[in-house]
Amino acid sequence: MTEDKIDLIGLSLEEISETLINKGLIQSKEKFRSKQLWHWLYFRGETDFDKMTTVSKDLRKKLKDHFVIQRPKIKSHQISKDRTQKWLLELNDGNLIETVFIPEENRGTLCVSSQVGCTLNCKFCFTGTQKLVRNLTSSEIISQLLLAKDNLSDWPNGKDRKISNIVFMGMGEPLYNYENVKNAAEIMGDKEGIQLSTKRITLSTSGIVPEIIKWGNEVDSRLAISLHATNDELRNDIVPINKKFPLKDLIKACREYPRSKNSKRITFEYVMLKGVNDTAQDARKLVKLISGIPAKINLIPFNPWPNSPYECSSKEEIKKFSDIIKNAGYASPVRKTRGQDIMAACGQLKSSSIKIRKSELRANG
Ligand code: SF4
Repeated sequence: MTEDKIDLIGLSLEEISETLINKGLIQSKEKFRSKQLWHWLYFRGETDFDKMTTVSKDLRKKLKDHFVIQRPKIKSHQISKDRTQKWLLELNDGNLIETVFIPEENRGTLCVSSQVGCTLNCKFCFTGTQKLVRNLTSSEIISQLLLAKDNLSDWPNGKDRKISNIVFMGMGEPLYNYENVKNAAEIMGDKEGIQLSTKRITLSTSGIVPEIIKWGNEVDSRLAISLHATNDELRNDIVPINKKFPLKDLIKACREYPRSKNSKRITFEYVMLKGVNDTAQDARKLVKLISGIPAKINLIPFNPWPNSPYECSSKEEIKKFSDIIKNAGYASPVRKTRGQDIMAACGQLKSSSIKIRKSELRANG
């Protein structure tokens, strides 16, 4: 039974110390014991208290009585022909989320979800067609990384790690789950544990303006903005949160973003939609809009999903668009589409697909 036991994953080191002291498991002068535990949890990835050999037998037993180290259940695991991997994970309450690993030559990126579903209904995004169910806890966010590391044999943390980068770009709007995403990001970057460089942790937002500056003041990470349009009329349609936080305010927040500098340029994500936002004029407007901001622009070929309302721009249009941006002095890589055959590509995540299929089966059968 795990109900009345506390999940250690997702607590900060400080919170672990406090909890151990409050439960009388250690004394306040023994905080080094929580550091030992932290090392097992986040440097070695150990899930079995009995294997924590630097912790005394007596404390191990007490830890087992009071705590659990949880991982979500793997509902399905798919590997794309390009080696992208997608896990469909079942949480304790039965909700499902997806996590994607994208291996590249010099790095491995894990795309992490922050909510079950999403409220924002971005028109190009499959996840947006799924209703928001709830925010993920810090434990559920960090556990996606821990589970992926287990599966990829990526423990203990060393130089040649398989997961080198994290993007909060999976299901959900991370800034609408601010505190839990912040806690998870801090644990990911902790120097005694997972030790990911903060330059390799990217928060991607569709533009929750008031939280952008707050995040920049409080958390060391990179920032990516899902931009996708250069005027309010179009952005209201593609990224409806723009009606609440229009482009003028979003770009102002980017200009004022406290961590914006050349070593931590802001990434603007721009999905290429045929006949919608992909003209040379759009490219020139984009350059003007972001002028003066240390930035790079990621062009994302649109990844279709069942009944999606858009098509992807042609290769020629994307090249033309990219050249205009490059000529204006910005890096403008075209993101390679990865994991399309397993619906793991950008904007294709939707955990309810399995539930839908089951109910469809029931309805038909
Ligand atoms: S792009 Fe992100 S914010 Fe927009 S609907 Fe999809 S998951 Fe939500």
